[in-house]
Amino acid sequence: FIIPDFRGFCHHLDQIYNSCKNNTNGKVASYIPQLARLKSEHWAVSVCTVDGQRYSNGDVNVPFTLQSCSYVMTYAMVLGLLGAEEVHSRIGMEPSGRQFNELCLDYNNKPHNPMINAGAIMTAALVKPNLSAADRFDFIFNMYKRLAGDEFLGFNNAVFLSEKECADRNFALAYFMRENKCFPEGTRLHETLDFYFQLCSMEITAESGAVMAATLANGGINPLTGDPVLTIDAVRNTLTLMHSCGMYNYSGQFAFKVGLPSKSGVSGCVLLVIPNTMGICLWSPPLDTNGNSCRGVQFCMELVSRFNFHNFDNL
Ligand code: GLN
Repeated sequence: FIIPDFRGFCHHLDQIYNSCKNNTNGKVASYIPQLARLKSEHWAVSVCTVDGQRYSNGDVNVPFTLQSCSYVMTYAMVLGLLGAEEVHSRIGMEPSGRQFNELCLDYNNKPHNPMINAGAIMTAALVKPNLSAADRFDFIFNMYKRLAGDEFLGFNNAVFLSEKECADRNFALAYFMRENKCFPEGTRLHETLDFYFQLCSMEITAESGAVMAATLANGGINPLTGDPVLTIDAVRNTLTLMHSCGMYNYSGQFAFKVGLPSKSGVSGCVLLVIPNTMGICLWSPPLDTNGNSCRGVQFCMELVSRFNFHNFDNL
């Protein structure tokens, strides 16, 4: 009943997929060799509805790293562990209006929000800080796996190692936050950064990413397994910040034009959530100047021009 004519809907998706395929704008991220080697031709669209209907087109089984899209999963999880009040005593909820990795904090000397690097490093610091590094990794891997309904989840060690090697800015952000007493007492800075790089280096496919997005669309209950992975409140807060801060410095324009919660990552991934309806994972490595996938953004625009999915459609 969610999408009454799913076949007809898929026909539209095919058309949008093909139209975006012609878009050859943008540049693949090049700050680490492992990302620079991504082929700009890759283009994948995968959909999972809250009642479990699937659509996939293109390179939907090719693994890629989550990068900033991991911020969403980790933030949602931490909300469930600590509650919003505790989490937001350390991280703001305001769009920064600055580049995602800019060396700045908000007026309270906190990272602006969990959807940019500083906030995501803080989020990482809040995940089970008393566990060993290995147990923390296992814990988060297991949670991500549940979000993906046991579909593909990997870890790209080469990306992890090179993230770690080329991370001057992330180190600078972490030290800057430590200087401003942002972290909880006892936070181990290097271990926290390692953990953050590990989260960025988790691999999904467009198909498994669509299930993760669908879990967010479905109030935190995985639509395929019925597993209640996230709390309702955590999902509400996460979708809210995806809506206002998920697309870097394009978030305001995206909210205006597309009106849906989404998160992009430097590997060319866009997770798009149509609440109570479906999750969509888009993947195409070439990025625009804001750092968002060119084809991914175009897809979102064309989707809402055909269907009234914009948050404020039909009021
Ligand atoms: N690993 C990247 C970084 O920390 C993630 C950023 C991104 O996806 N925009 O810079």
